[in-house]
Amino acid sequence: ADSAGAGNSANGELTERWRGALMNNYGTPRLPLVRGAGTRLWDADGKQYLDFVGGIAVNALGHAHPAVVEAVGRQIASLGHVSNLFIAEPPVALAERLLQLFGRDGKVFFCNSGAEANEAAFKIGRLTGRTHMVATDGGFHGRTMGALALTGQPGKQEPFLPLPGEVTHVPYGDAQALAAAVTEETALVIIEPVQGENGVVVPPAGYLKAARAITAATGALLVLDEVQTGIGRTGHWFEYQAHEGVLPDVVTLAKGLGGGLPLGATVAFGRAAELLQPGQHGTTFGGNPVACAAGLAVLDTIAAEGLLDNVKRQSERLREGIESLGHPLIDHVRGAGLLLGIVLSEPLAQQAQHAAQDAGFLVNAPAPNVVRLMPPLNLGDDDAAAFLRVLPGVLDAVNGDGRSGE
Ligand code: PMP
Repeated sequence: ADSAGAGNSANGELTERWRGALMNNYGTPRLPLVRGAGTRLWDADGKQYLDFVGGIAVNALGHAHPAVVEAVGRQIASLGHVSNLFIAEPPVALAERLLQLFGRDGKVFFCNSGAEANEAAFKIGRLTGRTHMVATDGGFHGRTMGALALTGQPGKQEPFLPLPGEVTHVPYGDAQALAAAVTEETALVIIEPVQGENGVVVPPAGYLKAARAITAATGALLVLDEVQTGIGRTGHWFEYQAHEGVLPDVVTLAKGLGGGLPLGATVAFGRAAELLQPGQHGTTFGGNPVACAAGLAVLDTIAAEGLLDNVKRQSERLREGIESLGHPLIDHVRGAGLLLGIVLSEPLAQQAQHAAQDAGFLVNAPAPNVVRLMPPLNLGDDDAAAFLRVLPGVLDAVNGDGRSGE
C-alpha cells in the first residue's frame, strides 16, 4: 500500500533521493507531493488527494490560495527582508491586526515556528524572576530544548536529558492537580486549549477558567499554546475566546498564521508584554515582511470569506456525518471546529491513515486509536461530502483485509 516505497515510479525515485540526502529524523515520509491547489494535492506519480490534514494545520486556506500567492509575490518583489535592525510595514500591520483580533492591548514578538514562539514564552517566564514551570502530560510544545522541556511526552525528551528548567507536568484537564502544582514560585503555566498532537484531547468545561484563576492567585503567567488551535482552526480566532472569563497573559501562534510560510508569534499582554528588554531575545528572520504579508492575507481572507462560520458549519457536518455512519470501528468524534479526532474502537488509526491515502484522502494518526482531521478552513460542502462517502469503505478495508499488519 506504500506507493512511496517502490523504486520504479516518480514517487519511488523522489523517496530514494530523500533517503540519500536528508537526515533520518522523520523516518521516511510516506508520500512525495509535487503540487497543491485548494484542498487538493498531487503526488509525483500524478495521483490526486483531498487534503484533510492540511500540513498539520499549516494550511488555513488550502494550497496556493490566490490571496496568499498575490501578497507573497507583491512583498518579495518590493521588500523581501530587512533584518531586525530596521522597521518594515508588514510586521507592524500584522501585529496590529493580531492585537485587534485579541481585542486587547499587548505586544507581539515574531519568529519562525511554534517551538520558537514557545521558547520566547519560556524566556518571558524566566524574566518574572521565578524559575518553576507547570505543563501538562501529553502536551506538545515543540522540539527545541526549552519547548521540549515543556512538552509532556517523556519518550521525546529522554534522549536529550537534561532539559532546561524546573518543569512539573500534571495530568491534562485536571484543575485540582494544577492547583496543587502551582505555587508562589511558579513562573508560568503552559496549556494547549485542545491537545492536538496527543490525539485531539479536549479538556473538561471550565478547565481553562480554573487555570486562569489558579495562576492569577499565585502570580504565575498563563501561557496558552494556540499553535495548533489558533487562527480560526476551532471556529474562533483563538480557541480561548470560546471560554468565558479566560484572559491569558501570553498566547503562542504559528502553523496556520503564515499561510504556508514559516511564521510564529508570541503575543503577550499586561506585565508579560514588558518583560523582554532590548538585547535579550531575537531571531534573524523574525518579522520577515514576506511571511508577515502572507499572514495578513490569511487573516484578511478568513474575515472576508466568513471562514469562522464555515469552520463551525463543516465541523458539525463532519461530526454528525461520521457518527451517524454507525460504523463498528468508530467510537465517537471529538475536538473543536476543524480540529477533529475520530476515536476508533480499536487501535487501528495508522492503518486507517494508510487506507485513506490509498483512497485519495490525507489524514493522520496522532494516537493509536485516533484519526485526526484538519482540513483547510475553507473546506467546501463537496469535499466534506466526498470524505463522508469514502470513510466507510476505508474503515471496512482496515477491519477486514489484513492491512492491520502493515
Ligand atoms: N505547539 C503545538 C500545540 C503544536 O501542535 C506544535 C506542532 N505540532 C508546536 C507547538 C511546535 O510547532 P513547530 O513545529 O512549528 O515548532
